[in-house]
Amino acid sequence: MHTCLNCDRTEEQIPLLNLNFKGGEQHICPQCLPLLIHKPQVLAEKLPGMEVTPPAEH
Ligand SMILES: [Zn+2]
Repeated sequence: MHTCLNCDRTEEQIPLLNLNFKGGEQHICPQCLPLLIHKPQVLAEKLPGMEVTPPAEH
């Protein structure tokens, strides 16, 4: 059973999106996806090794 890496809801409760990361697979629900996009540092502890430095402004 897959669960959202942030809120731990299961694929039985909400559709989960696959994340491919460092050769592994993680799952996140649509409601937590904005967190990954806008506040990745919040999820950094759930995704060890994730680069949390924001991209340079262009
Ligand atoms: Zn979630």
